[in-house]
Order: sequence, then structure tokens, then C-alpha cells
Amino acid sequence: MPLGGLGEVGKNMTIVEYGRNIIVIDAGMMFPESDMLGVDYIIPDWDYLRDKKDLVRAILITHGHQDHIGALAHFLKEFRAPVYATRLTRGLIEVDLKRERMLDQMVLHTYAAGDVIHIGPFTVEPYHVCHSIPDSVGLGITTPAGLIVHSGDFKFDHSPVDGWPTDQDKLAEFGSRGVLALLSDSTNADQPGSTPSEAVLNDAFETIMREAPGRLIIATFSSLISRVQQVVNVAQRHNRKIAIAGRSMVENTEMARELGYLDIPGEMLIKLEQVDKLPPRQVVILATGSQGEPMGVLNRLATNNHHSLHIQDGDTVLLSSHTIPGNEEMAFGVINRLFQRGADVYYGDQAQAHVSGHASQEELKLLIQMLRPRFLVPIHGELRHLVGHAKLAHELGMAKGDIAVVENGHPLTFGGERMQIGKRVPGGHVFVDGSLVGEIGPLVMRQRDELAQSGFVMAVAPYDRRAGKMVGPPRIITRGFVYAPDAEELLAQAKDLVRSTATVKRGTAPSKVEERVERALSEFFYQETKRRPVVTAAMLEV
Ligand SMILES: [Zn+2]
Ligand SMILES: [Zn+2]
Repeated sequence: MPLGGLGEVGKNMTIVEYGRNIIVIDAGMMFPESDMLGVDYIIPDWDYLRDKKDLVRAILITHGHQDHIGALAHFLKEFRAPVYATRLTRGLIEVDLKRERMLDQMVLHTYAAGDVIHIGPFTVEPYHVCHSIPDSVGLGITTPAGLIVHSGDFKFDHSPVDGWPTDQDKLAEFGSRGVLALLSDSTNADQPGSTPSEAVLNDAFETIMREAPGRLIIATFSSLISRVQQVVNVAQRHNRKIAIAGRSMVENTEMARELGYLDIPGEMLIKLEQVDKLPPRQVVILATGSQGEPMGVLNRLATNNHHSLHIQDGDTVLLSSHTIPGNEEMAFGVINRLFQRGADVYYGDQAQAHVSGHASQEELKLLIQMLRPRFLVPIHGELRHLVGHAKLAHELGMAKGDIAVVENGHPLTFGGERMQIGKRVPGGHVFVDGSLVGEIGPLVMRQRDELAQSGFVMAVAPYDRRAGKMVGPPRIITRGFVYAPDAEELLAQAKDLVRSTATVKRGTAPSKVEERVERALSEFFYQETKRRPVVTAAMLEV
């Protein structure tokens, strides 16, 4: 059963259940869309597992991207199952768990491509896949009902940065054993052809390092370790030193260097504080914030809020990442402000400084051809991606009934030669807002939206229930509706209205009066301003 990542891009999570045994694959987070006001991020709804806590045998992680590990700390607060991850992925998880101060209570196992691990009735075989982060795996899971292959995020890059292509031999072997179900990455199912190799980025980096007249600031995701390696390699040829800005970038590169996944010669690495001592042409700064995130380095540079770094004339900024849908506004805002401060900025397609880490149509077909699965479940993608993936498989001759286009919470049952799509379990988004996890639901989101649209007005007055009237002047408080000093007239009329509406039959309960006042004020404000602020009244009994 998919619990996340189907019908959306992000927060990937799938469970495999047999008898009294469950394994969980990935526990990712997702960035909020711009209408989800105040939400920091979103995690999967794993309510289905809450009654089955002791059945969860293991959590298997495919790779270290946040949409696969970002919810793990939250998950481990509820479930005490061992986590399996490759060395680099484990390193990234440890960085997260350390920050949450929960690292020492957790059971983490390192697995590697080629291992065979027995967990309850399952045999798990991680195999190497190419993706935009090293040490990514897909999973072959042999269950009593048959072999399931979970592709993870993958592409067939024949010249990857780390020289380690997707393990086609293992895929062929799975194919010869017979695959019951393939769960495959659909992120790029709408992209024709094959995804270009990471190697094509070298040209883009070469050109920009040669042509940038001063400092070069390259922003990307801190988890794109391969991208960081490419920048380092090209910088070395151009005699530029590397400085690293942003906490997650510093932590991740340090960890990846220690584990040997990132090769930066010691003499190339300089501290941010040393940047000014070098001629600008000898500097590359690797920074976070390519999505325009408020706390990212790029935004702090754009707003001149960074403690040691400031944009200066001659700076060149390169955004080497794809802007996640929903983040465009923020990212473009940051880009505009960087231009304003005098930097030259390269971004998007014109910069040619990003290639996707996900398989395009020809590669998806290749995977299906190699595995010849009995059933296909498109995973990782919005509905349009999942449907596109299903169409590709159908073109290859798979029957429509053998392809399950489903969204999160749909259980799929495999037995014998049959696949059944069961009744959907309730689930959806779990919002994380500061330290509130799940307390913020759709209702709160709607209220925030209303507040954001027209602001609020609050009327407060001392009220005497026995007399059925107010016993003092009402106060009107507003935020985000009108600017009070410019609206004296309007607010004075509103006070009069409160006074007259709150004069009622003796003995009327304050709550009844509040309702009347709210209704009257809402109507009045709409008549006068054609806007509908959120109106609340408080009749304080004396
Ligand atoms: Zn990924
Ligand atoms: Zn992913």
C-alpha cells in the first residue's frame, strides 16, 4: 500500500505487508504549496500503521533525498523498527537524527547494493541505481506471494559522475526469476526520450567558470552530492577555491567527505570568512537556497542578511537545480533581488545547469522490458505522471487490468495470478508547523486562508446578562482589514452597530449576543467595503 508519493511529488512511503509482518519503504517529506499558509512541510499520513505497531519489522530507505528520508525522524518517534540504508544515505539520516537529538536511541543498519537480507518472511535485495545522489538503491523484495521490485528514484545514466551505472545485470536476473509486481518511478513519465547524463553539466560548469568575471556562487540542494563533486572537479581546473555556505550544505559535504563519497582536496577548501582575502576570480561559493527558501543562503544574500557574505559587483550566481512546482514565486523573488544587488544570475533552462535524476519514457520502457512484470504500479508522481506511465506500459503490451493507477492509501493485494485494488484507507496530508505535527488540519488551513484574504475584526464589550445590554463602550480591534487611523468613520459606525445589536431581551446568553453581533458586523462591513473579514465578537459578562 502506498502511503505517500502517489498523486503528488514528494513524501514517498510505501508499505509491504504479509501476514503479521510489515516493511516500510522510505519515509519522505514534501514542501507545502504556496496556498498552505504557514506550513513548514508535509509528512505522510501513517495512521493505518498505528494499530499495527508491533508488526513493523523494518524501514528500508532507497536514498538520501528529503522526499525519501525527511519524515523519518517523525516516524521513528512513533515506531521503533530498525532502519536499513546505504552508507551515504545512513550518513544523511544521522545528520537529521542528530539534530533531533534522537540518534543514540535508534537502530540503524547499513546495507549495500548486492546484499541479501532476510526480514521475517521477506528477502530483500538492494541493487544499485543511478540517481542525482550517490549510493541510491532499488529493492527486490521476495515475498511468499512473489518477487516485488521497487525501483526507487532512478535513471539509466551510462556516464554517471561516480562511474557506477544502474545494475542492469541484477535487473535481468530479477526478470529471469519472474517479477510479480514492479513499482516504478513516474516522475518523468511525461518526458520523451532518455534523461541526459549528469556528464552534460560539465560543459555548463566549464563555460560559467571561465566566463564569470568575479566570484561564482552556485546554489543547489545540499543532498545533490554528485553535483557538488562536479563543481569541485571543474573548479579545480580553473584554479578556483571552494567555500561552503549554509548549515545543511556544510553538514552534508563534511559527512560525504568523511565517508569518501565526495573528494575535495583540503587545500581547495576555504572558510567563508577567508573569501575576501582571495581575488574574486579564484572563488566558488557553494550555497543552499536554490528554491528561494527563506532560511537559505541565497535568500539571505538577496536580502543582505547574511552574517559574513554580501553580494558585490561582478558576482555571478548560478542556480543548479530544478525549481520544485510551488516554489517558483519564492525562487523568482530571490532571483530578482539578486539582480537588484548587482549580481548576474543564471537559472532555469537557459543556464543548462541541471539535469533530472529521473528516468524518461524510453528508460521506463527499458525497465519494464527487462523485468517483464506480471503487474505494474506506477509510483512517485502526480496523477498525470502515473497515468502517463501506465500508457507507456500499455503500449508495450501490458493489459490495462494489470496496471494499477492508484493514489495514496489504496491497498493492492496480490495472490496467485491476481491483483485486487482494495478500499482506500483514509489518509492525506499531515502538516508540520513548527512543533505542531498533525494538529493543523484542513479547517485551520481554511481559516488561515480567510484571514489572509481579508484580515479580521474583533468586537469586545462588557455585557450584563440580566439587563440584556452592554455596560461600557465596545472596543473594535482589526488586523489586516483596514488601516484603523484611516477608517475612523467606518469603525465608529461599527461600534454604534455593536451597541444597538447587543441591546437584547433581559437574560439573553452572551453567546447568543455574540452571534448576533458577528452577523450584523459581517453584513455591515460587506455593504461598506465589499470585503468579508473574519469577524468575532466577545461579550464579557460582568
Ligand atoms: Zn531522489
Ligand atoms: Zn524522490
